[in-house]
Amino acid sequence: MSKEKQIAVGVVGLGSMGLGMAQTLAGKGFETLGFDLSGERKALAKKSGVIAAGSIAAVFERSKFLVFSLPTAKDVAGVVNDHLDMLKSRKDDRVIIIDTSTSEPDVSRDLAATLAKIGHGFLDAPVSGGPSGAASGKLTMMIGGAEEDVALARPVIEAMAAKALHVGPSGAGNVAKLVNNLLAAAHMITTKEGLKLAFSAGLDPEAALRVLNAASGRSMMSEVHFPTWIMSNTFDSGFSMGLMRKDVRLARELAARTGARLPIADLVAELWTGSTDLDDSDDFTRMGAFQTSN
Ligand code: NAD
Repeated sequence: MSKEKQIAVGVVGLGSMGLGMAQTLAGKGFETLGFDLSGERKALAKKSGVIAAGSIAAVFERSKFLVFSLPTAKDVAGVVNDHLDMLKSRKDDRVIIIDTSTSEPDVSRDLAATLAKIGHGFLDAPVSGGPSGAASGKLTMMIGGAEEDVALARPVIEAMAAKALHVGPSGAGNVAKLVNNLLAAAHMITTKEGLKLAFSAGLDPEAALRVLNAASGRSMMSEVHFPTWIMSNTFDSGFSMGLMRKDVRLARELAARTGARLPIADLVAELWTGSTDLDDSDDFTRMGAFQTSN
C-alpha cells in the first residue's frame, strides 16, 4: 500500500474548485472522502475515484486532513462548529483542516484558536488557479497558520498546489488572497477599459491585446482570462460574479477595519457590485465584455 493510501483526506464542498481538488487527491493515491450538500456533485466525485460520504459526520470521523472548499466564512465556521464535539472526541489524533475557501481572516483566527484548544490544527489556505488548477494539482496556495501544522499537512498541500507559500500566522493566507483578488478584480476592469478605448479609437482589440501581452500593461487577466473566456465569448471560467463580489467586499471591509485608504479599490468595488445587469450566478469574466455599455 502506498504511503498516501494510508492517509485519509476529506474534502468538504465539491463545487467548481472542491471537485477538482478531490479528484486530484484521489488520483495521487490519497484515500479521499468527499461531501457536498448536492447529491449531483457527490455523484460527479464518485465517478473519479472519490469515496462519496453519506454524511459530513462520516468525513469528520475518518479523515486525518480535511480540505474545505466552501463559499463563505459563514459556511466554514458553521461546518467546524457543528463538529466540535466529534473533534473533541478525537483529541489524541490531531486533525488538520486546510481551508481553501476565500474566507475572512478574523474567522480563520477564531477557528484556529478554538481548534488549538482541543488539539487540532486549522490552516487558512486559499487558492488561485481556478477549476483547471484544482483539477491538475497546479494551484497556487497562500497559507496562514502554525509552522508545525503546515509541515504535517505538506503532503496534502503539495498534491494540490504547484506553489504553496506560507505567508504568516493564522489569517495571513486570507489577507494575501483578498489582496490578490482585489488586484485581479481591478485588472479585469482596467484591461476591459483599455480594449474599449482601443476599439473606440479604431484599433482591433485583438491587436491591442497582443500588444498588452508583449508589453507593460499585461496581467493574468490579459494573458489568460481575456483570450480564453472573453474574446472567445464563452464566459465559462467557473468563477462566479457572486464570489468575486464577495472578495471585493471583503477586501474593502478589511481596508476599512485597518484604516488603509484605497480610493481605487473603492471604485473597483462599486463597479463590481453596481453592475446590476449581471447576476451573482453569471461567470465573473462577463465583467470583461468591453463591447457593451457596462
Ligand atoms: P461553488 O459554489 O462552485 O462550490 C461550493 C460548493 O460548496 C457547492 O457545491 C455547495 O453545494 C457546497 N456547500 C455549501 N455549503 C456546504 C456545506 N455546509 N457542506 C458541504 N458542502 C457545502 O464555489 P467554488 O467556485 O468551487 O468556490 C469555492 C471557494 O473557493 C469559494 O470560497 C471561492 O471564493 C474560492 N475560489 C474559487 C475559485 C474559482 O475559480 N471558482 C478560485 C479560487 C478560489
